[in-house]
Amino acid sequence: MPVKVIRYGRYNVKALSRLLDAALDELGVSPPSDVPTLLKPNVVVATKPRSAAITHPAVVEATIRAFLARGVRKIIVGEGPGLGADEGRLFAAAGYERLRRKYGVTLLNLNEAERVEVTWKYGTLRIPKVVTDAFYVNMPKLKTHGHTVVTLSIKNQKGLLSNADKKRFHLLGLHEPLVELLKVVKPDLVVADGVVGMEGEGPLNGRRKRANVLVVGTDALEADVTCCRLMGIDPKRVKHLKMAMDQGLGITEPVIRGVEPEKADFGVEFKLPNEKYGRMLNVYSWRNPYACSMCIDAFSLAVKSAFRRPKHWGTLLRLLYSAAFRRIDVIQGRHAKVPEEARGILLCLGNCTKDVASSEKDAIHVGGCPPDAESILEALRSALRRR
Ligand code: SF4
Repeated sequence: MPVKVIRYGRYNVKALSRLLDAALDELGVSPPSDVPTLLKPNVVVATKPRSAAITHPAVVEATIRAFLARGVRKIIVGEGPGLGADEGRLFAAAGYERLRRKYGVTLLNLNEAERVEVTWKYGTLRIPKVVTDAFYVNMPKLKTHGHTVVTLSIKNQKGLLSNADKKRFHLLGLHEPLVELLKVVKPDLVVADGVVGMEGEGPLNGRRKRANVLVVGTDALEADVTCCRLMGIDPKRVKHLKMAMDQGLGITEPVIRGVEPEKADFGVEFKLPNEKYGRMLNVYSWRNPYACSMCIDAFSLAVKSAFRRPKHWGTLLRLLYSAAFRRIDVIQGRHAKVPEEARGILLCLGNCTKDVASSEKDAIHVGGCPPDAESILEALRSALRRR
């Protein structure tokens, strides 16, 4: 089945809805009206659409309108945010609450949804029942990712997992379980938001990157391969996409309608994240494939939350001052090692780093699974005061 690339550069709901409607016609997609439709955007944390870290509500709204116009009666917008995310604020911060009021759609926290067991390579896996009952539309954001190079529809499926399974995926190396998940849970449709994506230190700390596209397809691998090409990234660089291609889980050279990415004149090239670490000022956050996303981003989320809380402004100032003269190295996840380059302050985040922290003189350990922002800021405050 071809993949449709819609070139459009604004979050104008009516126009997006019209374009999407035409794309569904072109691809011959007709969602059943007698079962619910599940829209699964990427809303990994409670943040505003402007951050470009989440699927824009205008794309979700355009999809709702296109599906309602096709006779779908029940639409559920569901997401299971990352460990430690502020679940209570998730949909409101993302601008999705308005969609509930305006269209009567259900907003569902998948972390609390009823689950059913499916058999997969590693035994059994508990996935939300609604995924098996509904017409399932996977709606990723075009983003680079410090861990997996890109995060697109196949990676977006991680939001379907329980918190325990999210951790298990990281312990299993992430890429292979993502491919195995695709074998047992396949989207009926992918609508990827690339009007404005994110490049560099994604999935949360990158920069906005305008690509002016929506990508629509009925096969997750083909849609992801197309998105990679639009981002100027070789899909074979992405381990789980390469594994899926090698295992014949989809066509590796999808027929693309709307634009030929290699010949496209918009020349969009997403900057890749640094493979070894994410850097903010003089703070180096070292990558570890076994670390869960919310441990990886715990430090930057803590710093961002400090801006909103006056009691931590002193710590922020100390951090800025300290980072001008000395580096801070942050490690997280099981099997974490102290990098050779580390000097200055070593911050070990999460229960997984307890042992390595106890073997390092002067290391600061913040427990938790994942550690919470308050504990990280408190640990930073006392460390920066002492030094
Ligand atoms: S401490 Fe962090 S990396 Fe370890 S299991 Fe918990 S969330 Fe995952």
